[in-house]
Amino acid sequence: MAAPKVAVVGAGVIGLSTALCIAETCPSCSVTVLSDQFSPNTTSDVAAGMLIPHAYPGTPIHVQKQWFKETFSYLFAISNSAEASEAGIHLVSGWQVFKNTPKEELPFWSDVVLGFRPMSEAELQKFPRHQFGQAFTTLKCDCPPYLLWLEKRLKATGVQMSTRKVTDLWELNSEYNVVVNCAGIGARQLVGDEKIFPVRGQVLKVHAPWVKNFIRDGDGLTYIYPGVHRVTLGGTREKESWSLSPDPGTTKDIFERCCSLEPSLRGAQDIKVKVGLRPSRQCVRLQKEVLSQGGVKLPVVHSYGHGAGGFSVHRGTAKEAARLVGECIADLQGSSSRAKL
Ligand code: FAD
Repeated sequence: MAAPKVAVVGAGVIGLSTALCIAETCPSCSVTVLSDQFSPNTTSDVAAGMLIPHAYPGTPIHVQKQWFKETFSYLFAISNSAEASEAGIHLVSGWQVFKNTPKEELPFWSDVVLGFRPMSEAELQKFPRHQFGQAFTTLKCDCPPYLLWLEKRLKATGVQMSTRKVTDLWELNSEYNVVVNCAGIGARQLVGDEKIFPVRGQVLKVHAPWVKNFIRDGDGLTYIYPGVHRVTLGGTREKESWSLSPDPGTTKDIFERCCSLEPSLRGAQDIKVKVGLRPSRQCVRLQKEVLSQGGVKLPVVHSYGHGAGGFSVHRGTAKEAARLVGECIADLQGSSSRAKL
């Protein structure tokens, strides 16, 4: 069999990182990323990019933990290299605070992030409305630079990138041997998966360079995440809302909630509002499927539905998707050598 041709549909963090893992694990493959939008026009560009997992109720915790661990190790190594600034990856320390002590005082990811510990009484004095807190150091991706860094790596390894809307995965059958579906919320239309739904998120990106620590309310709704250049203030979680228009009332509400956690934000400048639709699902769909028409087969690997935590697990799911692509190629090579016998 000649060099297997693999198409990856989607150029958000999932599509780009998956294409990179495939190119790394299968150097003989010819990989192409096909997407109707690239950075800066994807949901991934809007994200805060903090490595704090969001649990997927339908995915076993040990699997989620493995994805998070692999992602954390991968980005930690980048943060420790000369590439860190260009890739937009950095360590950030801060606090997750709770109005009431949570049932689960040790989240499943507490031994993956660095230095996880309960906050001291003295630290909690900063948050007079909260009675419990956790301090830790994690990683943050500044999303548009990270996506551009991934694109640059892909081009350097010979991966092609092409702007194209795919209306049916089968249309790729004549050009590619394996197709990988990383279409995010687009999967709902592309493969008719009604289990995926949007959870709208509105955030503010502000200039407040004095804010160095992250602060996250334990309910996950209000957060302050400092990046290299801007601080992300959030947020909202609006299930089944497809609106990409910023809502001025929500902007005011987010700003007030964040100022109540960090009053110095009243001096923030240059407030930009962004909206994205989290591709949410009970569990990430990470599996193989063989499409078939008239006796012709097309192996597909799906990887979508990363919801509120795509950045936190992207490298782990990309590695698993690349492994599944390897299995598809081995099957194709097995059947082509059997056909020659
Ligand atoms: P996308 O980025 O949406 O990419 C999908 C790609 O598929 C796009 O390029 C699109 O153009 C393409 N596509 C779709 N349909 C087609 C088609 N038919 N043909 C061709 N191309 C197609 N996660 C974290 O881990 N930490 C955070 O701090 C965090 N903060 C967030 C804050 C907000 C406000 C939001 C909205 C999300 C946040 N997330 C966070 C979640 C994260 O953004 C998502 O999980 C992640 O971006 C999903 O990536 P994706 O590549 O699957 O989707």
